[in-house]
Amino acid sequence: MYPDLSGKVAVVTGGSKGIGNAIARRLSEEKMSVVINYNHDRCGAEETAESLRKAGGNAVAIRADVGTEKGARALLNAAIEHFDTLDVWINNAGIEKQSPTHKLSLEDWNRIINVNLTGVFLGSRTAIKYFLNQRKKGNIINMSSVHQRIPWPTFAHYAASKGGVRLFSETIALEYAKNGIRVNGIAPGAINTPINAEKFSDPNQKQSTLDLIPIDYIGKPEEVAAVAAWLASGESGYVTGATIFVDGGMSLYPEFEEGQG
Ligand code: NAD
Repeated sequence: MYPDLSGKVAVVTGGSKGIGNAIARRLSEEKMSVVINYNHDRCGAEETAESLRKAGGNAVAIRADVGTEKGARALLNAAIEHFDTLDVWINNAGIEKQSPTHKLSLEDWNRIINVNLTGVFLGSRTAIKYFLNQRKKGNIINMSSVHQRIPWPTFAHYAASKGGVRLFSETIALEYAKNGIRVNGIAPGAINTPINAEKFSDPNQKQSTLDLIPIDYIGKPEEVAAVAAWLASGESGYVTGATIFVDGGMSLYPEFEEGQG
């Protein structure tokens, strides 16, 4: 637990399920007030907010498309309207869709880039403007992926978006360090969330993913949320521009595990 988080306010994009949902729950356990964003999954977000309020926390579910300026503004407004301020903004919302690159439509390319990269830009810009106006030492956490480093054929748009998130995060970490604003990334490997539900329901596909994970299990959303809580807290106060890989070793070239090469 991180006592300095108590009473602070977080926006978590894409908080209706999966990793974002685990982050919203963990931050609420840390006694933060949480704006839980969703785009389509109203039930997931509302039920989570309701259960957190029942447990004594402060949480509100807000519909907003992170790929729009209006959406980002709505999330900031919600934080201020319901909880008076903003301390931590977590750009977590993300989507993926498999397609060989030579068949990838411009529409699908734009859709993935819009949510995964433009959404991170719009959320970060909104939070930074607020932090600067309030002279606040705010905190931004951007959800990337091991595919900010590992090429991923048939997911070129996704890999491009996450590679973009990495350099965008590092750039704004440097740009606003003097203002006391910290920006860090989290790069999950394979995590057990709805985004992977179809893949992991097939034992062969699940095994082929496990073969890429030295620690030998699919990660839990709570294991990503634990890193988000640490990055949000003052315990990580000297960390900015970093990406923490939460991947069971997936990015460590597991093919070389036995000294091959
Ligand atoms: P998920 O599909 O379970 O949840 C995604 C969330 O994003 C949902 O709440 C969804 O409503 C929301 N969302 C999608 N489009 C949105 C939009 N336009 N506006 C607002 N919200 C929107 O996915 P997840 O596995 O929890 O992934 C969360 C993040 O972690 C994503 O950025 C993803 O790329 C990243 N990630 C996940 C894994 C994994 O294995 N699960 C691995 C690496 C990176």
